[in-house]
Amino acid sequence: MKIICPICQESLNKEAKRYVCKQGHSFDIAKEGYVNLAMQKTSHSGDSDQAVIARHLFLNRHYYHFLRQSLNDYVLAYHVHKLLDLACGEGYYTSYLKATEKIGIDLSKKALKLAAKNDPQSTYVLASIFHAPIADESQDMILTCFAPIADKEIGRMLKKGGYFLLVQPGPKHLIELKEAIYEKPYRNEEKAPIIDNLKLIDKKIISDFVEMPNDDLQNLFMMTPYFFKTSSLDKAKLANIEKLAITLEFAISLFQKG
Ligand SMILES: [Zn+2]
Repeated sequence: MKIICPICQESLNKEAKRYVCKQGHSFDIAKEGYVNLAMQKTSHSGDSDQAVIARHLFLNRHYYHFLRQSLNDYVLAYHVHKLLDLACGEGYYTSYLKATEKIGIDLSKKALKLAAKNDPQSTYVLASIFHAPIADESQDMILTCFAPIADKEIGRMLKKGGYFLLVQPGPKHLIELKEAIYEKPYRNEEKAPIIDNLKLIDKKIISDFVEMPNDDLQNLFMMTPYFFKTSSLDKAKLANIEKLAITLEFAISLFQKG
């Protein structure tokens, strides 16, 4: 599995109710099935519970299903055996991808409880993506979907020749929603990042156009980074939209480690 002890970096072995290393450091498996390997208190503890619930309700409407189908095309095309999902949230993508050994890492307990309960086949770990308890050069593919890019860790954990799959919002993602709320809606910048030791080998934009009722729009909006930057006046505008047809657009970039 290639999960390592956050104290001594030896391999962790899974037992019935815990993970344990050769030195005897032991980590209990929570009743929902995830394991907490977060070492130090980090400055934030993942998404707020409110954001996790909004995302859960929204994802279960499956507007984003076409995205996970696209991601799975890469998993199948590159015959991925070991897959690591960084900032996996509730495992919406992790659970769907057809790799044989899957690990999801996130800092939100609430999200990991949902993930582990719904998907016992994958291993879910509470940890920072910037200090991931995963062995060097152990992963065939790493996925980062709408999350910060832990570039140093990704370079460390990928096997030579392994793949990094990155999902970012496309330029027109949610543009109609932004137009309905903001005076000056902006488009997302389209930029595949430059990452040391990783070469960009494929890039594509996928999109869909869907009509959503107000409750889905509200949940979707709460998942976005815009939510916390929006005035209560602008939030009230959203409350008054009964339904809206909007663009969902994602930029998928595939990198390979040299
Ligand atoms: Zn140890």
